[in-house]
Amino acid sequence: MDDPRTLKIALAGGSIGGLAAGIALRGIGAEVDVFEREPGPLQTGGAGIVVQPDLLDLLAHHGAPSLPMTGCSQRRYLTPGGDAARTASARQQFTSWEAIYRTMRAVFPDARYHLDTQVTGYEKSARGVAVEIANHGTIEADLLVAADGAHSATRRALQPRVESRYAGYIAWRGTVPEAEVGADLLAAFDDCFTFCEACSGGHMLVYLIPGDGADVRVGQRRLNWVWYVAADDDELAACLTDRFGTRHHASLPRGSASETALVSLRRRAEGELAPVMAELVAATAEPFIQKITDIAVARTVFERVMLLGDAAFLVRPHTAAAAAKACFDAARLAAALVDAGNDIDAALAAAERAQLRYGRRLVERGIALGSDWPARRA
Ligand SMILES: Cc1cc2nc3c(=O)[nH]c(=O)nc-3n(C[C@H](O)[C@H](O)[C@H](O)COP(=O)(O)OP(=O)(O)OC[C@H]3O[C@@H](n4cnc5c(N)ncnc54)[C@H](O)[C@@H]3O)c2cc1C
Repeated sequence: MDDPRTLKIALAGGSIGGLAAGIALRGIGAEVDVFEREPGPLQTGGAGIVVQPDLLDLLAHHGAPSLPMTGCSQRRYLTPGGDAARTASARQQFTSWEAIYRTMRAVFPDARYHLDTQVTGYEKSARGVAVEIANHGTIEADLLVAADGAHSATRRALQPRVESRYAGYIAWRGTVPEAEVGADLLAAFDDCFTFCEACSGGHMLVYLIPGDGADVRVGQRRLNWVWYVAADDDELAACLTDRFGTRHHASLPRGSASETALVSLRRRAEGELAPVMAELVAATAEPFIQKITDIAVARTVFERVMLLGDAAFLVRPHTAAAAAKACFDAARLAAALVDAGNDIDAALAAAERAQLRYGRRLVERGIALGSDWPARRA
């Protein structure tokens, strides 16, 4: 029989946010179940993630195995002509979504991680919240944490007026196995976090990340690049229309860009970026697109439902903070529950304050970093 004093928490979403919260909340003795709507293990397009302290702290605090990471010792800034305008010593570590996911799954029990279980609804109950879950039934919990991502149905139901705001530019992204590029091209990026201003105002950045299976051995890594490119509404619509004529709304998945878009991307890279950058773009088999948007909520707690991770605040990728923010939210929630003893509502109020402060700061930082790019087009 359940011990009524044990906190029972349901988590909607089994990506980084859901797992971070699951790990942190198990760490304070809560009984936690993660419900992920995808039927099979989550697969990533394999793009890179800059490692931040909040992520490492959460993993270390809960005894996770070492996170597979790559690293560099310097930052290099290239001009569009290809000159190294500046090189500075700066250590940085990088990882991949897959590496984080595997590391988190290693410390979260399989029996509590439920695939093919979409959270379809919830209502207030005597215990706190009754959560309806496809293929699982209805469960009673003290708290539902909605880590259901940027398109969160929970957020849209609770905060219907919160809209995602298009930033005026997209990110073309790609990864290339290091074994597939020539030695000179690899040497141009090895041990570096490399940036290049583009003639039209955006910039491209490149770093090495773990390869398939989170493999960090030399020879197995991937070169990861992101190029921020301004796009007005018509250009955006064209970019997000795939090779079959289907219009996507937030991203264009790997392998679906039209031949026309790829030819134009490569030509544009040749005209706007340092030659090594253009060469890397040309070497990428399946570049994909992420539309850059901001989402900021006014509240994250609604009685016994809390929004967490991208469901609450969607921050621009150049803040390099999405995964770390999810870990921050998770750690603050766990700490607040400990501090508040049995008073769950007081804990949620404290966690919400921290979440709102941090989320707003990151959204503003992302806007400040990227706001002049669309305006700087020739
Ligand atoms: C498969 C995958 C791969 C990714 N790869 C990268 C990457 O390479 N680089 C990068 O920077 N970011 C990547 N991201 C995004 C990154 O995880 C987030 O930006 C950040 O880590 C915050 O994570 P999150 O858990 O809040 O949101 P997300 O990572 O978006 O996860 C939300 C999860 O909730 C699930 N979900 C949605 N609705 C429901 C529901 N009703 N019931 C149950 N489950 C639901 C989704 O299937 C998803 O797994 C990826 C996300 C996913 C899901």
